[in-house]
Amino acid sequence: MKKVLLFLVDSMMPDVLEQCVAENKAPAFQYMMEHGQYINDCATVFPTMTASIDCSLITGVYPDQHTVPGLVWYEPDTKKIINYINGAMPVAKIGIAHCAQNVLYDLNEKHLSRYVKTIHEVLEEQGFVSGSINVIAHRGHKKHTLQLPLALQAVTGGQMPRKVSGPSIFSMGTMAVPNIFRPIPWGMGHTSLGSYGINDAYAIDVLIEVVTSGKQPDFTLVYLPDNDHKLHRSPMKATEHLAAVDQQIARFLNTFQSWEKALEENVFIFISDHGQTTIGLDDSHNIELEKLLASFRLHKLGEEIKKEDEIVICNNERMTYLYPMYDGLTPKIVAAVTGEPRIDLIAWKENGWVHVQNGGRGHNTLKYRKGGGQSDCYGMQWTIEGDLKVLDLQLDSQGNIFFDSYPDALSRLHGALFARNDEVVIITAAPAYEFYSEYAPTHLGGGSHGSLHKRDSLVPLIVAGAKHVMKRPARLVDVKDFILQELAVQAVPV
Ligand SMILES: [Zn+2]
Repeated sequence: MKKVLLFLVDSMMPDVLEQCVAENKAPAFQYMMEHGQYINDCATVFPTMTASIDCSLITGVYPDQHTVPGLVWYEPDTKKIINYINGAMPVAKIGIAHCAQNVLYDLNEKHLSRYVKTIHEVLEEQGFVSGSINVIAHRGHKKHTLQLPLALQAVTGGQMPRKVSGPSIFSMGTMAVPNIFRPIPWGMGHTSLGSYGINDAYAIDVLIEVVTSGKQPDFTLVYLPDNDHKLHRSPMKATEHLAAVDQQIARFLNTFQSWEKALEENVFIFISDHGQTTIGLDDSHNIELEKLLASFRLHKLGEEIKKEDEIVICNNERMTYLYPMYDGLTPKIVAAVTGEPRIDLIAWKENGWVHVQNGGRGHNTLKYRKGGGQSDCYGMQWTIEGDLKVLDLQLDSQGNIFFDSYPDALSRLHGALFARNDEVVIITAAPAYEFYSEYAPTHLGGGSHGSLHKRDSLVPLIVAGAKHVMKRPARLVDVKDFILQELAVQAVPV
């Protein structure tokens, strides 16, 4: 049976990919597109931030089931902001040891729901071997010991748990090296300059060693982060950045006798986690949350949550979670952010209903809940009341809902609001804007993401060498079951 390889290319966008191919800058992607299925409008998960999307990719469900709300979120039980590392400044403020433990341990061992199974767990329970290279969501049935870099050892003071779970073949940069015969060749990718091996060149080095060692798992998920970092800084060079990813893919393909041979032996799937939106140049494109919410007592980042704090801000770039610290505060928060033209959507939940309204574009509202007589184009059932224009919902001739500005909006917004039980208000930024709060990274003139808008939310999906055809309209959450189907594994209902 063929092996399955799934490449997760951070911030790859359909139009950039197509332009790259048209300019002959991406021969490997082009080869796969010409020998397989290419989908240019796969809907990812909201918020459009890597951490919670990775969890959806490996579990096949939205955050309302896997329970990881985003890159940055608030956990009332511990009264802590959870941060899977969103930039040097906020991490320094919250504490590097806390954030390192969040991303390296808590995400998989505590935050990711035990009621859902990862693809690694499903496969290895049925006698298959699974692999994960540099993906931060990786829960599996084997235990692996992390070798922390010296700098991290110093700040964590040896307090952080070192045993993390993962599939049989597991790589986390230079902190966890797969159990194969040959060592991974040493290069720049192994130094702190290369984020401890969390970079494209190192991931491909590991993949090459895993495949050529004869221990290639039935399924391997490989994370390639470089495109995201570069796009944040220089979106105008998008095709160059993606061409560099293509070179890494080609380097892997060239280790086979031929690219045809690579496809005979493997199913290749390429997907992205989210897109990016270019942010305007001047300061007005940063929506300053402390100013907007100045009438509330705001929690100060880096300090303990105090009794008098009214709102905890968890900034996810073009999306923000605002957590009210006592009952009855939600309507006041909604009123405070209403009318701000740079805010695109405002959403909150009430007794199982999702309430949505547009930020600066009028006061029309929409509310919906799961179940009921209205189907969307993904086959989900809803009860909807109010103005469909708020989420740009459209009806086909049979009365089924389809989406335009906000792909798969109903499931995705529900997924984020119900990821945890706590009350929360979600705000998203209009195109060209992002949120700014104390110490948050900003990207004026660069790229950013996080919102529900299609620019951040539609990703390319390439499937080559497969027996089956990916159903359309495609969603990132359906990739897990597609892979199980390719490997003839019975999908386990969650
Ligand atoms: Zn990013």
